[in-house]
Amino acid sequence: MIRFWNRRLKSSILTENPELDEKIQTIRKNIKSEVKKKFAGSLAIRMVDSGSCNACEAECNALSNPYYDLERLGIYFVASPRHADIMLLSGLMTFNMAPHVLDAYRQIPNPKWVVILGDCPMMQAPFEKTFAIETTAKSEIPIAHHIPGCPPSPKEIIEGLLEFLQKI
Ligand code: SF4
Repeated sequence: MIRFWNRRLKSSILTENPELDEKIQTIRKNIKSEVKKKFAGSLAIRMVDSGSCNACEAECNALSNPYYDLERLGIYFVASPRHADIMLLSGLMTFNMAPHVLDAYRQIPNPKWVVILGDCPMMQAPFEKTFAIETTAKSEIPIAHHIPGCPPSPKEIIEGLLEFLQKI
């Protein structure tokens, strides 16, 4: 135990410091002010996976870690579409998931927006149209913004969210 604490006290901070990344700091500042201006300081996101490989979701999970810390900017992921302002949709629109995506969309109170995440919803991903994929997201629901990438990095996702917030 003593050896552990000796080593721990002698080592410097091992994680990256977001305060040193000026671009991230600027994005965070702008997101916070847009959320305050347009959503009274609290933006709720319902994430829906309509048939992804889960890499987009894994990158999204990183937004809740202490480095990106979206909650400190007033952005929350919620479990119910009824509590959401926007839907963040990832993956291809699979045959089985399409009715559930539409159902979740219907349950989001107005005004509502859909932001699509990654190349899959645009049918630009490595997957092709198959018997399991009948339609594209944009032919079923109005899309307000697209965050491209396969998968987009957490930094690209928060940049995309800022672009969306500045556009509405
Ligand atoms: S866009 Fe790429 S990473 Fe995201 S779900 Fe599709 S294949 Fe996976």
